[in-house]
Amino acid sequence: MINPIDQNKLKKLAQVAVQVGLGLEKGQDLIMTAPLEAAPLVRLITREAYRAGAGLVTTLYSDAEATLARYRYGHDLSFDRSTGWLFEGIGQAFDNNAARLAISAENPMLLANEDPDKVGRANKAMSAASAPMRKRIVEFSINWNIVSYPSADWAKQVFPNDNEDVAVGKLADAIFAASRVDLDDPVAAWGEHNKVLAAKSKWLNEHNFAALHFSGPGTDLTIGLADNHEWMGGAAPAKNGIICNPNIPTEEVFTTPHATKVEGYVCSSKPLSYHGTLIDNIKARFEGGRIVEATASVGQEVLTKMLDTDEGARSLGEVALVPYSSPISQSGTLFYNTMFDENAACHIAQGQCYSKCFKDSESISEEQVKANGGNSSQIHVDWMIGSAETNIDGIKQNGDLVPVFRKGEWA
Ligand code: ZN
Ligand code: ZN
Repeated sequence: MINPIDQNKLKKLAQVAVQVGLGLEKGQDLIMTAPLEAAPLVRLITREAYRAGAGLVTTLYSDAEATLARYRYGHDLSFDRSTGWLFEGIGQAFDNNAARLAISAENPMLLANEDPDKVGRANKAMSAASAPMRKRIVEFSINWNIVSYPSADWAKQVFPNDNEDVAVGKLADAIFAASRVDLDDPVAAWGEHNKVLAAKSKWLNEHNFAALHFSGPGTDLTIGLADNHEWMGGAAPAKNGIICNPNIPTEEVFTTPHATKVEGYVCSSKPLSYHGTLIDNIKARFEGGRIVEATASVGQEVLTKMLDTDEGARSLGEVALVPYSSPISQSGTLFYNTMFDENAACHIAQGQCYSKCFKDSESISEEQVKANGGNSSQIHVDWMIGSAETNIDGIKQNGDLVPVFRKGEWA
């Protein structure tokens, strides 16, 4: 049987992950997480990492069958628990300068038929226990990266009318194109792309907008931006000094909204795949920065549970701009995976903000982030609000309006 995944491009993806995504330095340890199915990419990345001089490369595999076994046979009380000891250990490794790589390949519908109460509790317990790991990632303490692998269960969800081999081949090609590994020199192509994203970020930072106003069908939303916010996009230096590209692919420039200054209503423009369930047609109303009303035509219960995770879950931690003409958007494909779908549309995120999206982020304290209006939460969930109809105006500190997006494109 012919492998539907182009092995040469998979090898290039491993190179891009190590050289561009992580910028892995000699002697650095690497902690990788991946589903079992992604083992071929894990092995290629491991080889690339050691060739780049990695210290120890450690992979933690997850297994969909084992996850389902927990839901079918696990004791009810177990759904309020998580592996805190593991996340403590990962946090320790980060403090010793280990880099982090995640391979995203999950079946977006894995938990669709499981008890939403158990799913909600397990998510909440995991969010709480993973704080030591998440904290260092949102503070950008170390270089990190996420890449994707075309697993069969994910591919069948994205291309339901094709047989498995064809679906995997199509998803592989989509991942390779979006990750720029279908080009002759992907590392150079990423250098060019990073320049474009840096120029957009610079323009937004020079304007130093007080707020952005989004309008479009079902949307009239004013997002106040945090004090001393900084727009970012593409490659950036982590606090350990290593320049990395956290997301591959990435098309966004993004910053931190003000946790109490978001007003109006907004609807989602794409379904959101959240921990194995789908949430679709979200309509939300914001008041004083918080979602005070939210409905969804699919996944209402999971949405409500997600918004009730903690105090900060109803406020925003990110606003990101992505033109409708972005390659991922143009593919017209719904990937049921935030890594891809968030790079096809302007989006906002409920929950935790990135402290790197502030001026002087190297030295900013948790208290300063909060004083600037940065939100904190155990979740960070991106959802898509941009479409071909999206208009965005920047509102300057003196109230002047500057067109930022018209009909889904940079103005
Ligand atoms: Zn984003
Ligand atoms: Zn995000």
